[in-house]
Amino acid sequence: MNKQIIPKVILHEHVEGSITPFMAKKLADKNHLPFPDSLCYQIGDYNEIEYKNGRYNYDESDFVSFIQTYDTVSNFVKNPDDYYLITYDFLSRNAKQGLIYCELFLSPYHICATENQGKVVWDQARFQQTLNQMDKAIIDVQKEHNITVRYHVIGVRHLGAEVVYDTLHFIENNPHPFITGFNIAGNEKAGHFDDFEKAHQLAEKLNLKKSYHAGEIDSAESIIQALKHGANRIGHGIAAIEDDSLIKQLIDNEITLEIALTSNRILVNNLHGDIHNHPIRQLYDKGVRITLNTDDAGIFGTDIEKEYQLAEQAFHFSRLELFDITLCGIDAAFVESNEKTRLLNEVLSCFNNNDKRSLQQAINTNQYHPAIIARFKKYQDLLLQHVNG
Ligand SMILES: [Zn+2]
Repeated sequence: MNKQIIPKVILHEHVEGSITPFMAKKLADKNHLPFPDSLCYQIGDYNEIEYKNGRYNYDESDFVSFIQTYDTVSNFVKNPDDYYLITYDFLSRNAKQGLIYCELFLSPYHICATENQGKVVWDQARFQQTLNQMDKAIIDVQKEHNITVRYHVIGVRHLGAEVVYDTLHFIENNPHPFITGFNIAGNEKAGHFDDFEKAHQLAEKLNLKKSYHAGEIDSAESIIQALKHGANRIGHGIAAIEDDSLIKQLIDNEITLEIALTSNRILVNNLHGDIHNHPIRQLYDKGVRITLNTDDAGIFGTDIEKEYQLAEQAFHFSRLELFDITLCGIDAAFVESNEKTRLLNEVLSCFNNNDKRSLQQAINTNQYHPAIIARFKKYQDLLLQHVNG
């Protein structure tokens, strides 16, 4: 990899949310579905440099208009081979920007469940065909780019505890080696983490690591509850900034937050549409492990390069700090330890002499939180082993 590019990690992207306007048009045409003119801005009406793959036309201050766009776009996905197109498009574009590791979230309920007389019916064949198509897309992207991908199964909380449990139970009968994570997503205000006790336990039995959406639109208490039920990571988690004892818990237990700046600006009312109100810098400076994520890249018109640039430009994250963010992502990845070690070494091999000097200076000046300094020292030790090994 080009040494000037910082290798990047995404721990949080919903596969259906990754559909860009151009891809949506392609799917609508392929599946002979009408494509409403009002869905996207017309060429010339938006900044084509900022939005390289088209721009959806929803009101960023109106949650309902966002959800309608999301639903319209999701409905263009009809067949398992549509998932090949989506997965290939998202991963190949981001891999060109330095993405080396990605966790994609998929919802079996949306992929293969139908309701028949009030009973949910799961279509095993359809699920397997869909995953085969996604696997094939990954293999094809890997022919050109060095990228590793794992999947999370999503339990949609507003569909109720029974459906969330049934989703995992379906995975128990349809396991896949790339499914390494269990995720609770959907409307954070629907239900309580206690309601999903059976699912928390089944995830453990299936050896799936847990990352739960919490503290995005709900309070710090939601994060506390997610942790109580064994969450290894937190999706968003920005409400942690309200609670110093929770911040200490996050640091002590090395819990990583999956921050998604553009998504949070649009969906989190407390930020009032202004990215500068985001607590990412305070969370990092207080020693919390954070990562940068795209969440619903296509719908939000973002990609991993934009998210790293936003962190750099709006919050002055230095190159060394961005390396740290990538390395925190690898450390928190739901992937086998040998692969983790390989990825870690790949990132460290991108440290140039200037980066090594910045690392040494950061350790010497001691201006960072002790948790960050501890990480920096670990990187330095590993870099020295590299030289000697
Ligand atoms: Zn999400």
